[in-house]
Amino acid sequence: MSQKYQALQTYQDLKDGYDSSTNWKTQATVAVSLVPVGVSVPNNTDTFVEEKVAELLAKVEDAFHYNDWPLFVRACPLVPRPGVLESSRADSIKEVRTIARRIISTMMSPDTSDSPMYEHGITDPHGTVMVQPFVKATASAVVAPNNYILMGPSNDGVTAGNADKFTVALPLQSCQRTNNDLKRMDMNPDNIEIEFVSELQGDESAMRRREMPHQRWAMVQLRGSEGHRPIAPAPKGVTISGTFHGAERITIKHIHLVSDNTDEQLNKMEDALREGMPEDTVVLHPTGSHLSHHAGQCFKYGVPYIASTEPKVGEQWTQAALGWVVLDNDGTYEPQPYDPLDFADQFITGFNVGFTNYGRQQGWLSNHFHQFIGGPIDDPARTAYYAGAYVAWLINASLSVGFGELRHLHSNAQNSTALAGATIAALFGKDRWVEVTKCSESLTGNRQSFYMMLEEFPLTTESVIGLLEFAMKCYSLPWSSSYGGEKYKQSCANARDLLLTVNAFMDEQSEENFKDMLAKANLTEHNVHNGGFFFNKFLTKRALDWGTDSSLIDLRFPPEFFSVYYAAEDVYYAKPREGMDLMPILDLSSSITVADLRTTPITQRQDAIGEGARYLNRYQLHPNGKYGNVTNNAFLPCGDNKCDVCGAWNEKQKASVSSSVLAITESYEANFPVVNDEQQKKDTAKVLKGMAAMVNAGKPLPDNAHVDLAFLFNENMISTESHKHVALIISNFTNEQLQEFSKLKED
Ligand SMILES: [Zn+2]
Repeated sequence: MSQKYQALQTYQDLKDGYDSSTNWKTQATVAVSLVPVGVSVPNNTDTFVEEKVAELLAKVEDAFHYNDWPLFVRACPLVPRPGVLESSRADSIKEVRTIARRIISTMMSPDTSDSPMYEHGITDPHGTVMVQPFVKATASAVVAPNNYILMGPSNDGVTAGNADKFTVALPLQSCQRTNNDLKRMDMNPDNIEIEFVSELQGDESAMRRREMPHQRWAMVQLRGSEGHRPIAPAPKGVTISGTFHGAERITIKHIHLVSDNTDEQLNKMEDALREGMPEDTVVLHPTGSHLSHHAGQCFKYGVPYIASTEPKVGEQWTQAALGWVVLDNDGTYEPQPYDPLDFADQFITGFNVGFTNYGRQQGWLSNHFHQFIGGPIDDPARTAYYAGAYVAWLINASLSVGFGELRHLHSNAQNSTALAGATIAALFGKDRWVEVTKCSESLTGNRQSFYMMLEEFPLTTESVIGLLEFAMKCYSLPWSSSYGGEKYKQSCANARDLLLTVNAFMDEQSEENFKDMLAKANLTEHNVHNGGFFFNKFLTKRALDWGTDSSLIDLRFPPEFFSVYYAAEDVYYAKPREGMDLMPILDLSSSITVADLRTTPITQRQDAIGEGARYLNRYQLHPNGKYGNVTNNAFLPCGDNKCDVCGAWNEKQKASVSSSVLAITESYEANFPVVNDEQQKKDTAKVLKGMAAMVNAGKPLPDNAHVDLAFLFNENMISTESHKHVALIISNFTNEQLQEFSKLKED
């Protein structure tokens, strides 16, 4: 029986016995094994094949329901022989029959290779055929327990290689649950590779959500190996993956080229290995890595493997480090320590891409940032790229949280004006807000919408700095303790400073600038808000913990490590986007004073800020504190004649003048909106009556009462009845006041 199938069954038994610490999802599996080892191969092959096909079909019909389809018919040779037996997807029971018949017939037929694997000359009579639901995997992972997690695209992007050589590696120091299970199953962690698959649900927007990407996933293989293939940091200046299986140097006399990742090429290489390649042959596999099936087969036969087309016959190559090789004709190669600054260009490229392709879940790249600093375990250039994207994420994520919290400004801070809200609305404009939030009434109070806005519309560097500084100003106001305030201000300042150091590093890639940038990145990574971890509004803390302490990386929930893969993929295939320039709006906003807002109420402004203000609701227009409090002299009318807050304020103004004489101590300023003549006449009468009442009570009128009276005369109609109040008020004016009153009063 095949090792693959047996190991999977052992794990399933462990789970079924409630004895598994890992409890990974597995797929329903049915299988038929062909001839047991030690039993002779039957003579009547055709009958045997048909019996086995029928046995498998009966199991398939019994085990799978319509929603398990399509299925995957997998060949499991007794000893792994990648490339010889083709596994396929089946969409109907008829296809299962066809594929099973083809695989079993091949296994039972004579080996066509020049030097067959078995003495009896049959291809694989002791193998197994397995059927499982087909997972259209978007990523797969090969895990070497207590060593590493290596991920690649599709069902087999790691082991079969992929054209982009796109893999993502994480260190795995130890996963206790996994080790417990392997021990119970009597498997040696050093001789097992665990394979997982993941199918991303939804499109690239999966990275732009408030939680880690949704996935279907399963543990699909516990594959026996001859020992883990090494992954180690590349030494300075070395970029070619390869392995000489213990030899320090090789001189190339023959080359076997594996030109692509097809089964045909793999099969051809396998045959050649089995037949015995000439001495001093090297296998070149330009689309592979030293972790591919190909490298594994070369390992088995002791043939050097290099994932490149560069090597030529006659050259001498040196194993520079585990998994890395370098051309070294004079044999003097001395490894130099890794230096992240060698990959500054890739770092900057990654930064620029990440900066304008922000996604909340890219914080999963934290480990790669720390690998970049300390030594990458996979390709150093790609690691530098991810690190750059992660630093961009730190800035954008801080901006998101800092910007999003501003939705509470009007309700949870004191003494802001409507200018902040109007600015926020104006920055992106009502149309974009409506597009993202589907809310045409007013600026959203939903924080995820603020985050989406920044994901949807990248900004220029200057605008990000400007917006962070705008947020810092807002956080300088007094905030209630569980919202905004000092900690947000500090977090935004850290992000701003980080961006400034990145800019300095881009201008001059000096060691000093590099260190400054790292220090600021570290500060920003530790940003906190009032309740703890700054980014927990959309990212699990484990994502960042995996960076700062890689011993925490484990296999307890595979979608976590696959999230690292999807984050890497998201930035890897992205291109820099044009940033929006917010500076004109930010500059306009900071030029507007409270006095300006008093002169021209905000919704009546004929500019972008006025337009933004008209997209605010009454609470946003009248924030907490003195400018929004109708009982405070500093109250700022918003200028919207339908606003009930301003309506209440007007009522209050009128009441404060006309009611109890003793209560009148404050302004009787009467900026009544124009309603109608009769109403106006009544309102004016009330004010005049109130002023007269003050005179009667012997209370001093405010210094500018004459100005107000002139205003009332000019703007309003005075009823006959009110004239006696006017006479009384005027009699109380000083000579100077009287002169000025006459001057101000028209006609
Ligand atoms: Zn108002």
